[in-house]
Amino acid sequence: QFLKKKAKSATKIAKPVKQAAVLGAGIMGGGIAYTSASRGTPIVMKDIAEKALDLGMNEANKLLSKEVERKRLTPEKAGKVLSSIRPVLSYDEMKGVDIIVEAVVENPKVKKSVLAEVEGIVGENTIIASNTSSISIEDLSTALKRPENFLGMHFFNPVHRMPLVEVIYASKTSKEAIASVVAYASSMGKTPIVVKNCPGFLVNRILFPYFFGFFGAIRDGADFVKVDKVMEKFGWPMGPAYLQDVVGMDTSHHVGDVLAEGYPDRMGKAPEKTALDVMYENKRFGQKNGVGFYKYE
Ligand code: NAD
Repeated sequence: QFLKKKAKSATKIAKPVKQAAVLGAGIMGGGIAYTSASRGTPIVMKDIAEKALDLGMNEANKLLSKEVERKRLTPEKAGKVLSSIRPVLSYDEMKGVDIIVEAVVENPKVKKSVLAEVEGIVGENTIIASNTSSISIEDLSTALKRPENFLGMHFFNPVHRMPLVEVIYASKTSKEAIASVVAYASSMGKTPIVVKNCPGFLVNRILFPYFFGFFGAIRDGADFVKVDKVMEKFGWPMGPAYLQDVVGMDTSHHVGDVLAEGYPDRMGKAPEKTALDVMYENKRFGQKNGVGFYKYE
């Protein structure tokens, strides 16, 4: 209730988002495009790979078909939603958009160059948000000429199901940009929370000590399948091993490093290799490439 009231008051200074864009058509970019479009905000989805765009569109199509099957959408409405996602390979269609959500690979160099590039194309008032899970928003903002229009918009995976969105501000982010992203997230049916930039933001800062505990237990001989079952009985929707597979070992390894560096006294690196390190080195990234703790078709 409190969060809803806050989100409502933010809409007073928010700039309306009539047209959005997402950079990257991967797991997150595709999910953001689907969620935005299905909640009524058309979106341009840009990637550098045609194959990624096809995958993103197929995924949106699959989710829409399920909605039709469940009789929550008519086939006509589903078709309309799908056609409001425009897959593109160039920046040409970005000029008039109100907000851009960057969801390219988790690499600060790539992100900075993409952010600077897109800022040179869009209008002065366009808000640019990054969906980074671990890179400092303050650091990314240094790549931009208008840092007041820049902030974090951190969705969780899978985007269409996870209700929370972290809205992360850096030292120069304007109140209007924060309010606009809060309003856009609310329009997508999400619950936005506004967080000051810090390592791990809020959710991962709380979630990762749990993962660290899990990897410690495995090191001491615990069976991950049993741990998953125990945590489900405890009441969590899934256990830590399965959740790691959903998040992806690449993302998780990176976020773990950021937290260990950000809070060395509280979350310092484990003295020896963890199961996460080993799986990361062996490219067992979880659901995204078919093998993690568990195997996927
Ligand atoms: P992904 O690898 O599935 O997708 C990344 C996409 O970016 C690929 O399709 C790639 O072709 C594209 N790309 C690369 N360079 C590009 C460029 N210059 N312009 C346009 N597109 C480009 O990755 P993902 O899991 O979707 O993660 C994307 C971002 O979201 C990362 O910053 C990640 O940390 C963050 N995130 C991921 C999760 C998760 O659980 N996967 C959760 C929250 C946030």
